[in-house]
Amino acid sequence: MRITGETRILGIFGYPVKHTLSPSMQNAALESLGLNYIYLPFEVRPEELEDAVRSLNTLGIIGVNLTIPHKESVIPFLDEITDEAEVIGSVNTIENKNGRLIGHNTDSGGFMMSLRADAGFNANGKTALVIGAGGAARGVIAGLAREMVHRIFIANRTMEKGERLAKEFGNKFEGTEFTAIPMSSLNDSSIMSSLDLFVNATSMGMEGTIFDIQFSLTPTHVLVSDIVYNPQLTAFLKKAREGGRKTIGGLGMLLYQGAISFEIWTSRKAPIAIMKDVLQKEAQLARQAADS
Ligand code: NAP
Repeated sequence: MRITGETRILGIFGYPVKHTLSPSMQNAALESLGLNYIYLPFEVRPEELEDAVRSLNTLGIIGVNLTIPHKESVIPFLDEITDEAEVIGSVNTIENKNGRLIGHNTDSGGFMMSLRADAGFNANGKTALVIGAGGAARGVIAGLAREMVHRIFIANRTMEKGERLAKEFGNKFEGTEFTAIPMSSLNDSSIMSSLDLFVNATSMGMEGTIFDIQFSLTPTHVLVSDIVYNPQLTAFLKKAREGGRKTIGGLGMLLYQGAISFEIWTSRKAPIAIMKDVLQKEAQLARQAADS
């Protein structure tokens, strides 16, 4: 990579940020297309976020991703956000368009692209259960509703949050029925047997713990997804696989959200195969480091 006086800067704001896989993925993509850009990690403390966002114009940085814990708190510092990001209530990509800072949410589209590309799943008319009601779950649920999923059950540890989300999205997406359920209903056979898609959109997979789920209650065609990508095979997915269910991990969502962000910033088609290859290698290295 050759840095010149004309190199354009992209990056990611997070706290912490040192475990992010996005710089490797994005720099490989930029380099493969011969684009004179560089993508850097910036560790930004929550209390420094406003200054960091202002610096995008001061320093001429043309776009950044946002990760934990900035995706919601960044919104007041932007000039505009897309309708999609507004509905979801979270921004993971800033586009600096001639000094105007526009917030996008590419997590939602990334999840839906991953379902289609990695598992051939079409949400239209289907029934889904999503565990979680945080920022990522909102993106997953909004993506499914936009693609006309028939019914979504939402189970969340803090049930009132799931109930609020079901009501809010029920008013926003007319074609989908939203039902909040308690975590104890995760083993209700009438719900489990109706599922085409079962998603864990909580951070539980990262901690290695698992909800007590009997996958034998789900139909054999159900697709089981976990948006956590570290580890790639979470305890949730492992148990689903042991029950003979088809599974999909979170690396695809990471890949496709990055590809959509890349296209927003560069107006070039993202080199998916190269980005995927880098992510798989980085994830393997992270796994080896964790094991050693
Ligand atoms: P968040 O807004 O903090 O929400 C966390 C969710 O997990 C909430 O629903 C929370 O329930 C639930 N939860 C946390 N600890 C739990 C526990 N011990 N037992 C039961 N539920 C628990 O976080 P987020 O931004 O939605 O992110 C969630 C996960 O998605 C993270 O691991 C993140 O890395 C991953 N993610 C992956 C991608 C990707 O590209 N693959 C993209 C975005 C996020 P309560 O409401 O009860 O607290």
